[in-house]
Order: sequence, then C-alpha cells, then structure tokens
Amino acid sequence: MMTSKEIRKSFLDFFAKKDHKIVPSAPMVVKNDPTLMFTNAGMNQFKDIFLGNEPAKYKRVADSQKCLRVSGKHNDLEEVGHDTYHHTMFEMLGNWSFGDYFKKEIIDWAWEYLTEVVKLDKNRLYATVFEGAADENLSADEEAKGYWLKHLPADRVIMGNKHDNFWEMGATGPCGPCSEIHIDLRSDEERAKIPGVELVNQSHPQVIEIWNLVFMQFNRKADGSLEPLPAKHVDTGMGFERLCMALQGKQSNYDTDIFQPVIQEIARLTGIKYGAAEKTDVAMRVIADHIRAISFAIADGQLPSNAKAGYVIRRILRRAVRYAYTFLNQSDPFIYKLLPVFISVMGEAYPELTAQKDIIEKVIIEEETSFLKTLETGIKLLDKVVAAAKGENKTEIDGKTVFVLYDTYGFPLDLTELILKENGMTLNQKEFETELGKQKERSRQDAKVDSSDWVEVNSFSTEEFTGYDNLEETVKIWRYRQVEAKGKKYFQLVFDKTPFYGEMGGQTGDQGVLQSADEKIYITDTQKENGLSIHIVKELPKNLKADFKAIVNIEKRSASEANHSATHLLDEALREILGKHVEQKGSLVCPEYLRFDFSHFSKLSDEEIEKVEAFVNKKIREAIALEEYRDMPIEEAKAKGAIALFGEKYGDKVRVVKFGSSVELCGGCHTQNTGKIGFFKIITETAIASGVRRIEALTGKAAEDFLRQQCAITSDLKLTFKAKTEIAALEAVKALIDENAALKKQIENLQREKLVSVKDALLNKVKTVNGLNVIAEIVKVDNKDLLKDLSFQLRQQVENSFIVLGAEIDGKPTLSVIISDNVVKERGLNAGQIVREAGKEILGGGGGQPFYATAGGKNPAGLQKAIEAAVKTL
Ligand code: ATP
Ligand code: MG
Repeated sequence: MMTSKEIRKSFLDFFAKKDHKIVPSAPMVVKNDPTLMFTNAGMNQFKDIFLGNEPAKYKRVADSQKCLRVSGKHNDLEEVGHDTYHHTMFEMLGNWSFGDYFKKEIIDWAWEYLTEVVKLDKNRLYATVFEGAADENLSADEEAKGYWLKHLPADRVIMGNKHDNFWEMGATGPCGPCSEIHIDLRSDEERAKIPGVELVNQSHPQVIEIWNLVFMQFNRKADGSLEPLPAKHVDTGMGFERLCMALQGKQSNYDTDIFQPVIQEIARLTGIKYGAAEKTDVAMRVIADHIRAISFAIADGQLPSNAKAGYVIRRILRRAVRYAYTFLNQSDPFIYKLLPVFISVMGEAYPELTAQKDIIEKVIIEEETSFLKTLETGIKLLDKVVAAAKGENKTEIDGKTVFVLYDTYGFPLDLTELILKENGMTLNQKEFETELGKQKERSRQDAKVDSSDWVEVNSFSTEEFTGYDNLEETVKIWRYRQVEAKGKKYFQLVFDKTPFYGEMGGQTGDQGVLQSADEKIYITDTQKENGLSIHIVKELPKNLKADFKAIVNIEKRSASEANHSATHLLDEALREILGKHVEQKGSLVCPEYLRFDFSHFSKLSDEEIEKVEAFVNKKIREAIALEEYRDMPIEEAKAKGAIALFGEKYGDKVRVVKFGSSVELCGGCHTQNTGKIGFFKIITETAIASGVRRIEALTGKAAEDFLRQQCAITSDLKLTFKAKTEIAALEAVKALIDENAALKKQIENLQREKLVSVKDALLNKVKTVNGLNVIAEIVKVDNKDLLKDLSFQLRQQVENSFIVLGAEIDGKPTLSVIISDNVVKERGLNAGQIVREAGKEILGGGGGQPFYATAGGKNPAGLQKAIEAAVKTL
C-alpha cells in the first residue's frame, strides 16, 4: 500500500516527467487580493497569469497546494466532520497549462496517472462533462466527451450541468467548463445492487469526485457576463486526502495515514474509542480536521483575532473546542495536546509547522482557555434565562435573548439548543433568524465593495514598477474602474509603468500626484492587487488619454524607507539580543512610525530595550550602504543567510535587501544607507497574543519630534521646580513625594486628636430614651472613616447605646447609626432598616448590618430631621 508521502511524490514525479515545473505551495492566507481571504484552489496563485496581468514564467506547472474552504464561494465548514470527505484545510494536487496543452493531453494524462501509475481500478471510474447552458449561450463540451470515450464506455461518461461542470473561483474572475473524475469505492456487493452511475454527484460518501479538470476559457465580469480569456489554459485540482483514501483501500479520508495518528491520539487522551458512536466519531473528525487548518494558518502568520481572516481562524478553533467540550467531555484545554502527533505526520512535508511548533502551541492554548471561559459564562447566563422562564411557566425562550448570547458572548447556537432541550424547552427560531438576518445585513452593508469592470484606456499587456529607482515617471493610463465602498465613491487607475509602491509586505502604499499639462489629481493611496499597482484617486482625469507625470510624495516615501530599513535592523537586533527563536509575526511600515510583531515569550526588560536601541543606532551611525539584488535565485539568497518569512509567497528569483550583516528577502523600499534613518527610538513594547510581542518605534524626524517633546516636558519640570539640572528636578520630585507623605501623616494625627475632643463633648450629651443611652447629634468630621471611628469609639464607651450621628462631608450629608450588640438582640433593632427609613430625610439611601449602618444623601438641610426620625424608632 502506498503511503500518503509516496502518493504526493508520485503525482509530482509524473508531471515532472511531462515537462512540468514543480513549484511550492503558495501560502494559505492570501494577502493581496481583496476578493479572496484564503487560498481555496491550486489555481489562485496563478490568477494573474489567467487574467493576463502577468506573463507565465513556465508554460507547465504542477504542485501540491494548501487550501482552506471555510468562507466565500467555497465554504465546506458545516460538512466537515459530519461527512468523511470534506475538510476545511486540504491539499490539492494540481497541474497547469498556460496557453500550452489543452483538453486532449490532460484527459489522457489524468487517465494514465490514475490507472497506470497508481493503478486505480478502471471499472470504478466515471467522468463528467459539461452539458452546456442555454442562458449563457454555452454549448455542450463534445470535445472533452470524445476524448473520454477513448478510455471509458459511454455509460460511464456523464453530462453535467453548470452547477457541477462549470468551475468558478468566485463571483468574478477566471472560469470555464470542467470535466470531473469520480470514483466508486463501495463494496462489489453494493455495486451490484445499485450502479455507480446513479450515485455520481448525489452526495454519496463512497461515490465521490476526486479530480477536477478545468478548461479555463472565460473571465466572469462584475455584470455577470462572460468574456473570453486571452489564451486557453488547463487547471486541474485533485483532493490529495481523497486520492489517499482510494489508494489505501479506505472508505473515509479519516481512515488514511494522514488522519489516523491524530484520531488515535484523541481516542487515547479521551478514553473514547473511534467508532464507538456516531456523535463522538463526528467530534473526533472535526478536531482532527480543524487542528490542521488552525496550525497551518498560524504557521502562515495568521493569528486568531476579532476581524477578517483572523476571525475565521478563531471560529474554526472554537468549533473544535465546542465539539471537544460537548461530545468528548473536555472542559480543559485539550486540542493543543494533539500537536506533537499532528506535527509528526505533517512536519516533514511542511517544515513551517516544525519550525513554529512553540508558537502554534501557545496560541492554541490561549484561545482554548479563553473560549472555555466564554462557554462557562454563557452556560451560567443561559441557566438564569432558563430558571426565569421556568418561574413564568414558559417553555419557549425568545430569539432575541438567544441572539445576544450568540452574538455578544460568542456562545454557539447549537449548544444553546442542546441545553434548552435538556430542560424541556425550545427557542423561538424565527425571532433568532430575524435578528441574525438584521446583523448579517448590517455587516454586509459595511463590507460591501462594488467594483465595476475595468475599462481599458490604452492597450498594454504588463505594468512596470520603477519605484526603486525613480520617484517620478511619465505614464499613460492602462485601465480604470469605479469602486464604491462604505458609501464612498472613488476610482482605481493602472498605468503602463509606475514609480508608486503599492501596499505590500507591511509597507503602506505611496501617495502623490498625477499631473498632465492641464490638470493635477491627488493619488491618495496605492494598493497591490493581483500583481498590479492600483492607484486610488477621488476623481478621474478629464482627458484619460493624456500623458501624465506620476510623482511620488518624496517626504512620505523617505520616511517610509527609513522606517522599513530600521525594521530590518530591529529584526536583526532582536535575533541577536533575544535569540534566534525570534520570528517576524507582522509588520507595519508607514511614514509616521513602524510596528513590528515577533515571537518571544516574555516582556522585554528595560535593559533589553536599551540594548536593542543601541544596536540599531550603532548600525545607523555606521551608515552602511544598501546592497540590493533584484533577481537573485532563491537558493543563493538563502545561502547568503537571507531571512525568509513563513506565509510569504516567493518566486524562484527574489529581491534581497542587505545592510551589512542584515540580509532579508524583501520587496519594499529602503534608504540608500542606514545613516539616512537618522535615529531610532522604541516608544512601546507590549504583548498582542500569547508568545507574540509588539514593538512600536520612530525614526528620523518623527523620532526627533518625539525627543523634543520629551525634552520640553523635562525642561518644564525643571522650571516648575526651579531646578538647575534634570537630576535636580527628579530629586525635587522625590523630596516632594516624601514631604507629602509626612504631611498626610501629620494631618491624620491632628484629626485624631480633634476626634478625641469631639468624642468627649458627645459623651456629655448622652440622653436616656426608653431606657437606652442615646447620642443623637450633628458632628463636624472631615471624612467618612473618621465618622466611622467616632461611632465605634462611642459605642465602646457607652453601654446600652443607640448612637445616631449626622455629618456634612464635602457638602454631602452622611448619617450613621450604631447600636450596642445586646440592644440589637434584646430589642430587635436593625440599624440598616433605621438608616434606610431616616435616610429619606436627606434624600438618600444606604444600609449595613443590624448593629451598624450608614446612609449618604443629597440634602444636608435634612440632617437634623433624619436624626430625629432615627430616634423616633425607639
Ligand atoms: P465537492 O463537490 O466534493 O465539494 P468540488 O466540486 O467543490 O468538490 P473542486 O472545487 O473541483 O471540488 O476542487 C477540486 C478537488 O479538490 C475535488 O475534486 C476534490 O477532490 C477536492 N476537494 C474539494 N473540496 C474539498 C474539501 N473540502 N476537502 C477535501 N477535498 C476537497
Ligand atoms: Mg465543494
């Protein structure tokens, strides 16, 4: 039996022999495409080529691509675990022809690979072909059908509709008819009963699609119409886990050697056997699947968070925690315990997992812990709701309450339903749906970006970026489109060439102007999208065909360059001073400041921060010249010691940015020598997640301004304290603090002395009321503590006492009642009740214990009446 590793290799070897270049998987988290959060198919990384934005470097390519299908057009999340062949994260084996071979070759090769190389049983295979779609004016794919009939009998070539046999990446973008290969993995006995052809595309768990051959011919435009692509391409995708299932003679992906080790580890840790019951099996599959998605995402640099891609990852993790909690009785963090086994299975093929084991573990534990707390809080809240409903003899909980629990507290709906069911209750599903609908509409409106189709102004086929060398360029407009987002309208422009850097790799986009002989338009931002630089403008030039000067704002660009180069030096400093475990986890470079996130497990000490600053500033003073290599083979760059980032997409040729011993793969903009950074100053160092720290720092003029401000504050301080030096000012502050403390003590002593005389005077005013020794007076004290002291001291000195004191403290009336313990017992008096009643006279309220209580109020004029009211209760 072939192992999963051998299977992956056999696929790549097969296509290498057919002259395909084997390329690495692109990162799973997509960074520069607003229409896509995660890679959902092997073709994503080649989208620019299909769209004609970028020429293909190789005409034939193959790879194994990490995919995630949990959002957007391809979302399988709800299936995962419940069925046995959809995953959140999976590997897609794929091969491509960019304007090279087409339908005939790929159909022959797919057949050759499946039946001759890995030797699947020919009698279990089916092919589907596009039947055409009248509404789109598309005819049936007779060509593909013809090629299949060479290999398969006619009854196993099935015509399929647009839903199954026309592949689209998203709402817009490259697409085309496809031909899928399905396999029937049922037993001979079952196959004899029902022919497989009846089960293809019927969601049968053992009659499934394994390979999709897409013939990319069209681009779906924003208005829904199809436009032919410049060239015809082949794009295929085969589910690696499904192929392994078929080749290992299994009927579930989870029974292959990819998942079994993790499933068995779950069984060992929970003491529940896989196969014992459907519910626990589903939970085990969910967890075995989700740990992959989460770990790969974190390794790609995407931490769980509250927004966008980070939120999707958080939700996947929470789904796993929730299944472990409810079905496998795990109320403590559990999923992280599976990491060693998981990494032993996947770590060899994906070294980023091994390299980042520690941080993946920390992040998962932290997320698990906090979500388990959420669950606990949610359960308590729900218990209250249930109890209240029971009190009112209701059996239905309203949808609004449940929605708050779901939306505000992140409490899963199905768990709510389960708990309600256990209590013989239901929830008002309709109300819940209404609330959910309202919220979805709100976020849809917030996130809505309406882009029109590109309008071509001049015909070009590529864009050239000249911004490493030039900040000004004569350009022509290639294309433009209108975009509407959050109620704002703006335009995006693409030029034939541009000096403007588009936001990428943490560095924000350039700003500047677009100028022609008779107009000047501001470029407010530049973004990178599908390989092109997109210039954002509020209005379109009147004459789109004119020659323009595109001029970058030099001041902002230079500040960004200084911050970017300083970021490289900071990275080196951290690895030098804290250790080689430091990995970049995020970076922002803009004109104003720089932000750098990195893995490290404790707060930096003042001394470490000082060392880091000193390291960077020393390199700045050395004015080390920039050495830049624009097209270095990646292997050579790595040999030079260049630091590559996990989760970044690198080609064969990379750009290397070197300042002496700092060597990084980087596409960003840099100063000509480190001296131009001027000066480097860290302003904050904080934690952003477990094991991830964040430094914010300033360079150049911003650092200068910051220091000037600091100096202004110290010189103010000197002036205030009439000190000659900073040290003298500090001494003066310290002396002031000491003096202040001493004065406080003195005041306290004086107040106590005063209290003694107040007390003595009160002792002379004891009256007898109903056989009790009563003191009922307004007194002058400075604070509530003194009033309390006074009350307790009097009670101690007077037997059978009932003492009511009123005082005006800081303009507000306070009433205190204190009663001897024996009086409380014998007469059944309650100071708490008495102050509450009497407190009405001062427009206030209060309470306490039966022997001592106080009330505060708003009306000092009522104090005397309040005291009398208290005495009247005797
Ligand atoms: P299905 O109909 O089974 O969901 P699909 O039509 O969505 O598959 P494609 O988009 O054509 O699949 O993707 C190509 C191949 O990737 C499929 O033939 C299948 O083998 C595999 N695949 C698709 N989705 C998943 C998933 N969620 N988990 C594992 N493999 C998948
Ligand atoms: Mg699907």
